[in-house]
Amino acid sequence: MNNLTNLTKLQIIELYACTRCGECANWCPAVDAYQDNKISPAEKIIKLRRILEGKDVENEEFAEAIFNCTTCGRCYEVCPVGIRCHELWPAVRARLLEKGYGPVEKIIELRETIEKLHNPFGLPMEDRNKWIDKDIFMEKAEIALFIGCELAYRVKPMAIGAVKVLKKSGIKFVLCDDEWCCGFPLYILGDRSDVLKKEIEHNIQIFERIGVKKVAPYCPCCYAIMKKVWKSFNGDRLPFEVVHILKIIADLVKDGKIKFKKPFYGKVVYHDPCYLSRGWEYGNNIIEEPREILRSIRGVELVELPESKKLSRCPGSGGGIRRANPDLSEKMAEQFFDMLRGVDFDVLLTSCPAVNERLNFIMEKKGYEIRVMDILEFASLHI
Ligand code: SF4
Ligand code: SF4
Repeated sequence: MNNLTNLTKLQIIELYACTRCGECANWCPAVDAYQDNKISPAEKIIKLRRILEGKDVENEEFAEAIFNCTTCGRCYEVCPVGIRCHELWPAVRARLLEKGYGPVEKIIELRETIEKLHNPFGLPMEDRNKWIDKDIFMEKAEIALFIGCELAYRVKPMAIGAVKVLKKSGIKFVLCDDEWCCGFPLYILGDRSDVLKKEIEHNIQIFERIGVKKVAPYCPCCYAIMKKVWKSFNGDRLPFEVVHILKIIADLVKDGKIKFKKPFYGKVVYHDPCYLSRGWEYGNNIIEEPREILRSIRGVELVELPESKKLSRCPGSGGGIRRANPDLSEKMAEQFFDMLRGVDFDVLLTSCPAVNERLNFIMEKKGYEIRVMDILEFASLHI
């Protein structure tokens, strides 16, 4: 009966719970960008049911639809029965890849790159930690920062800002000089190879070895895979707690251990990353923390985007879309800029390196001029 053997029972129940109300398609930024109902969750669900029942088979067109998604999860937020397409599609991708459908060559290339260099960009391992002050390597501390590839190689101001703000608080923390890819780029594209396992196991072992109680990632994708997936590679437990850095910093601000002395008199918008703001099941809902940090900077006038918090709009950054379908990714980023029209602000802040990269990429390509910064980079300028 089950032709999609890797789906869980709950996922199969979800497929049959769909009422075809169409609300997901109204909110899906990928459907909006392509104006193509074939990629709407409801259409994919109907096809999946047919495959399960043996009335249809996977093909290249279906694989394309399944990969045309950033796993942003906005469809889940509006779905009246709570179908978690952001989890369904990665599972279906794994099955499709096994059968040779989807961007197979791109994923094999990614796997080989990560296996060799432990980052998805093909950059040398020795360049990974070049931005770091050597004095915070491997001291004894209860908290370790997990920097992640995108911050280490591409959006260094995020990493530098986070370290500067944490240093000011006086709490002890460490950075690990042998961090590998968190595994998210492979996992989300459906790659379940040994490379994924090796990257995750290595990271768990190094943090266990240095004996920290908490590991604090910044990148929302690192955070998601650490919270949701890592323990399944370690006997269903992690030897440390995973806490997002914005939560740690917001608590330090509340306790008066971080004070911002330099004001910023201007209008600030904050873009909520999908993997931090949506009400999924792994303890995210990190919505108020960034706003609390910003409100504690004198002069900041916080302006909300028309699509924010749990319904924030993905600008085509996540779910492996930049690799799987750069065209869709760019169109989604342009639509994000359309949303910004009419919003009066001086600086747009985010806490997602992929969003940061995407917005800067489109600005350069299209000649748009807005000021985009990471929230902790911004905070570090006012400390
Ligand atoms: S919102 Fe949920 S129930 Fe409605 S069509 Fe989409 S997946 Fe189905
Ligand atoms: S996860 Fe996001 S991009 Fe994917 S189908 Fe849902 S709303 Fe669309």
